[in-house]
Amino acid sequence: MRRAELAQNLADVDQRIGVACAAAGRPRTAVTLVAVTKTWPASDAALLRDLGVRDLAENREQEARAKALAVTGVRWHFVGSLQTNKAASVAAFADVVHAVDRAALVAALDRGALRAARRVDVLLQVSLDGDPARGGALPRDLPGLADLVAAADGLRLRGLMAVAPLGADPVASFGRLQELAAELAAVHPGADLISAGMSGDLEAAIGAGATHVRVGTAVLGHREAALR
Ligand SMILES: *Cc1c(COP(=O)(O)O)cnc(C)c1O
Repeated sequence: MRRAELAQNLADVDQRIGVACAAAGRPRTAVTLVAVTKTWPASDAALLRDLGVRDLAENREQEARAKALAVTGVRWHFVGSLQTNKAASVAAFADVVHAVDRAALVAALDRGALRAARRVDVLLQVSLDGDPARGGALPRDLPGLADLVAAADGLRLRGLMAVAPLGADPVASFGRLQELAAELAAVHPGADLISAGMSGDLEAAIGAGATHVRVGTAVLGHREAALR
């Protein structure tokens, strides 16, 4: 049964998070599991909610909007790269947007949030290898972007997000992210969240201070199975 399978996967992931927190000398409560339900049906998202998962994520606007409408009572995170013309839609349903990496997107999200009479939490995505293809702002552009978000009435600056560069050592990558996060929080004290770590590297991320791990495969299974 799908519910039992998800419950077992959740228990396994929770165990991994707990071990990683203990190894890092951090309390288990310091890390929030964000389950990434992309490609899986809304019924899976509802099962996860019923199993106690409070934070769910999607990475495409259309799929995200449909699931956010169908599954209420959770915080919806948007973790994908976001086209500016879809920002207003996302601002109307997402509680947290993780991959904000340019000024035009800040402005569009702010307009959408204000139009929907909402306040949306924002994480700035940083590119740890400077490769623009995978999204993310360059570290030197973070202070300016942070000031823009902080000044936007519809948005709340909450911290940084990153994906470990392919082929790079995740410990070194997430260590760099932790340094950048400390620099941001020194200027913007409310911006102390770090979204980092996925199924394959959540331990390294927790070791480097991640407060939110975004886990898809380890909770829901391999996405090819969902698409068959
Ligand atoms: C899909 C996705 C994840 C989850 O990846 P898994 O390896 O399946 O855990 C995390 N973050 C982002 C931005 C994603 O798109």
